[in-house]
Amino acid sequence: MSKLLKDKAYINGTWVAADSGKTFDVTNPATEKTIGNLPDLGEAETERAVDAAHKAFPEWSGMLAVDRQKVLEKWYDLIVEHVDDLVEILTMEQGKPHKEAKGEILNGAGFIKWYAEEGRRIYGDNIPSNADNQRIVVIKQPVGVAAMITPWNFPSSMITRKAAAALGAGCTVVIKPAEATPYSALALAHLADQAGFPKGVFNIVTGDAKTIGEVLTSHPKVKKFSFTGSTAVGKKLMAQCADSVKKVSLELGGNAPFVIFEDADMDKAVDGAITSKFRNAGQTCICANRIFVHENIYDDFLNRFVEKTKALKLGHGDDDKTDIGPMINRDGVEKAYELLKDAIDNGAELHCGGEMRDDLGPRFLEPAVITDVKPSMRIFKEEIFGPVAALYKFSSTDEVVKMANDTQYGLAAYIYTNDLKRAWEVPEALDYGMVGVNSSLLSLPQAPFGGVKQSGFGREGAKYGLDDYIQIKYMSVQF
Ligand code: ADP
Repeated sequence: MSKLLKDKAYINGTWVAADSGKTFDVTNPATEKTIGNLPDLGEAETERAVDAAHKAFPEWSGMLAVDRQKVLEKWYDLIVEHVDDLVEILTMEQGKPHKEAKGEILNGAGFIKWYAEEGRRIYGDNIPSNADNQRIVVIKQPVGVAAMITPWNFPSSMITRKAAAALGAGCTVVIKPAEATPYSALALAHLADQAGFPKGVFNIVTGDAKTIGEVLTSHPKVKKFSFTGSTAVGKKLMAQCADSVKKVSLELGGNAPFVIFEDADMDKAVDGAITSKFRNAGQTCICANRIFVHENIYDDFLNRFVEKTKALKLGHGDDDKTDIGPMINRDGVEKAYELLKDAIDNGAELHCGGEMRDDLGPRFLEPAVITDVKPSMRIFKEEIFGPVAALYKFSSTDEVVKMANDTQYGLAAYIYTNDLKRAWEVPEALDYGMVGVNSSLLSLPQAPFGGVKQSGFGREGAKYGLDDYIQIKYMSVQF
């Protein structure tokens, strides 16, 4: 692991400290012990990273797609080969259980393999013209330097998911990982270095979000900006990109409805709700935020769901028996706890969990289930981002679709039903970018992940994911 645990940022193929010599600490959320410190880069170093990526662009974009594929596949192979070390690093800085960390890293690496191949299928068009002596041809070219800011909840896959599409398209990248989880990003940089990316193609800048973010969103050499994080920060960064008219994609917050109809397969629905709600201690943007259960099966579902929730083991991520780890920071725990308390104070009933487990550490919240939740409560509107499951009872399809859509967000929604008509009609009526039908797994290399409304725009994964890193050039050729 020591080879992969870096203590510098990665710019232009070199490991660098901050010009000022300043560093910031990174903490293990399970123990609150310091893992180490990393360079707190400023404006000048970030500009150097952009310059390096800009300088590397002609070489990387000019390579044959089949040759870029080889480098990307080598990177993929190295990640798979070092997966156990990467798992340890990810759990140490983020807290999630080893098994989830492994799932994340391999799933994220899958995007590299996918875009290594997909980069060879960036087809143009030949459009019929109205004149004998004219041809209309469309070619697709990489946009240039792509800058990315990623969150702490998926420290590995949020990077590979974005970078793979950009690199596959022929762009060069500058990435700022979240301050809480930069080690996974730097480990990926180490492996990218070994895979043979030309210097300057892949850069990781660590440090203060605002300072680095201002350079990445305003620098004229950055042509594309991709962000995953909160809606509030995303809006600000989108505004900052306006002045230089960058291509932007945003994957922001969610408020996912998880709807269980009376004809659902109950075992599948309970398991799906547990996975969707409690994965990563409830800290994912596609987590079931509001669980709607039909009144005829409500009691049965509640009993089974509570029983399974009670069986989840809260603990440190490096213990193989752990199902749920710590939350990322004290603010996160406090917010989830506050939303839970607000709901209970306003009449919701607590069925299990909800205790802070100080015996494990200050960031551990026992997974909780509450019922009698009303749309007027804060927990209905706000992203919980913690292990608190809020259940709602509904009686008709129209009513539940209306409630499900009653939010500014539109990322993921889930429905469980065995009725074929409902399985087609309800997803079409939901204002969401993704709908799981009897399925709680959404992030796959071949599928377009992304939202609508204030959950953002742009897609990661699938053939569509390349569009965010490509521009269209049309040539009118006359002879
Ligand atoms: P979360 O609530 O998941 O922490 P944030 O939107 O705060 O979501 O963080 C997501 C990413 O955005 C992180 O990498 C963080 O460092 C970065 N970030 C936060 N604030 C800013 C900002 N003002 N400018 C640029 N990046 C920011």
